[in-house]
Amino acid sequence: MYVDGEWVNGSAGEVREVVNPATGEVIARVAEGTEDDARAAIRAARRAFDEDGWAEVTALERAQLLFRLADAIEEHADLLTRLETLDNGKPLREAQFDVADAANCFRYYAGLATKPHGQAVNVPAPSQTFVVREPVGVCGQIIPWNYPLLMAAWKLAPALAAGNTCILKPSEITPLSALMLSRLIHEVGFPRGVVNIVLGAGAVVGQTLAESHDVDKIAFTGGTVTGRKIMQAATGNLKKISLELGGKSPNIVFADADFETAVDYALFGIFANAGQVCSAGSRLLLEASIHDQFVEALVDRAKKIRVGDGFHPDTEMGPLVSQQHLEKVERYIQIGLEEGATLRCGGERVRVDSGGYFLAPTIFTNTRPDMRIVQEEIFGPVLAVQKFEDERDAIRLANDTVYGLAGAVFTSDIAKAHRVIQKLRAGITWMNTYHPTYNETPWGGYKQSGIGRELGTFGFEEYTEVKQINVNLAVKPSGWFRG
Ligand code: NDP
Repeated sequence: MYVDGEWVNGSAGEVREVVNPATGEVIARVAEGTEDDARAAIRAARRAFDEDGWAEVTALERAQLLFRLADAIEEHADLLTRLETLDNGKPLREAQFDVADAANCFRYYAGLATKPHGQAVNVPAPSQTFVVREPVGVCGQIIPWNYPLLMAAWKLAPALAAGNTCILKPSEITPLSALMLSRLIHEVGFPRGVVNIVLGAGAVVGQTLAESHDVDKIAFTGGTVTGRKIMQAATGNLKKISLELGGKSPNIVFADADFETAVDYALFGIFANAGQVCSAGSRLLLEASIHDQFVEALVDRAKKIRVGDGFHPDTEMGPLVSQQHLEKVERYIQIGLEEGATLRCGGERVRVDSGGYFLAPTIFTNTRPDMRIVQEEIFGPVLAVQKFEDERDAIRLANDTVYGLAGAVFTSDIAKAHRVIQKLRAGITWMNTYHPTYNETPWGGYKQSGIGRELGTFGFEEYTEVKQINVNLAVKPSGWFRG
């Protein structure tokens, strides 16, 4: 682990095996962190912020460090890409995209660090009043396994740009690219203690970060159940929280949509990264008049998706991230069958010579809104198709979950597209496309999909406190008390 500028073993001397999900083989043994390790990292981050002067480092110097880190990621892009595929299983071309995006995320926030963030305010008094943004302090950052490097970038880049110090906890399943990132962070010259990377179980290391009174903010991406636990743990010192949680996002296709485009993005929406995406278009809402024809075209193409080892150049969809997760997704397929939905394709494992946790792209039709496969986040390559009669019906069905992360609409009627998007209770929306994500725009959800926003200027602001400064321009006693 990387704590206080050094690589250390876990204080209990324990290790955890890391597995390649495409083969089931152990590919690495990494340090297993304990509560003591988490506390040591918090102490280091605290000292770096309170005493060692990171808070006084100028925005320009922070920007230069972040630019250098972006360059270093690009210089090592090949190795990082291969590590990501090895550890997470995603196809090389997806990993390549993630690595490039991670570098750009650091670059975006490097640029933002030096831009103006304050305000001057006219108040009804002889006062010069202005508002400045300052770092929150020590930030605990807990990330999942579906985009290991990219999620590290989404967390570290805005926090460091704003002048905070960080303790990052990667998922125990996919720690390798974050460890490589720690090498680059060290090499480009971040002072000791500014970034700390602690491995270990979420319930131990993550919980310690969320509970600690020395941590000023906790930022989390992951499942809603864990998000709730983190929110509860954070109450002790009322630390700031931002949560990016799950989704069950609707992808709405009207009869007047460009058919081929809509089929293509429906596939991409649910099967990219094997459906292990918080914003996956896991509910496909089809206008009744095109339902049968659309499903036929979709099933035909889903069956042709090449599932296999991410290192194989032809692979389009990799394995699920772990045996445990594969079994969870399979349980949902069983639930769908028991609930009476029609399995149109998939639903079974794909045999690959190397072994591994492969599942075929799976599509259910004849669903009802109350079914668990329609309401709950499966986080795998499983699509629930729903049918709607008209615009009102589409909106009603689209909003009928506890989640509100993302949603899309496909139609050639631009006014209708805007009407539907306006009614969608979701933080990320698309018209005639699915999934594009930009470092420049805010990412986060309504309802139980989370609290706060990442990326863009919004993501930066989440890592700042706001301070008003009032300068009295008429310096004389107030005269309020006469005695
Ligand atoms: P979790 O939400 O449990 O894991 C995400 C991160 O939180 C990991 O680093 C994990 O650590 C950590 N964590 C776990 N428990 C705690 C805790 N009590 N306190 C602090 N941190 C904790 O996701 P899972 O891997 O268990 O996946 C479960 C479901 O969550 C998925 O099936 C999917 O539905 C959803 N999910 C959503 C994601 C999203 O992007 N919105 C991403 C991943 C999952 P560790 O794993 O190392 O123990």
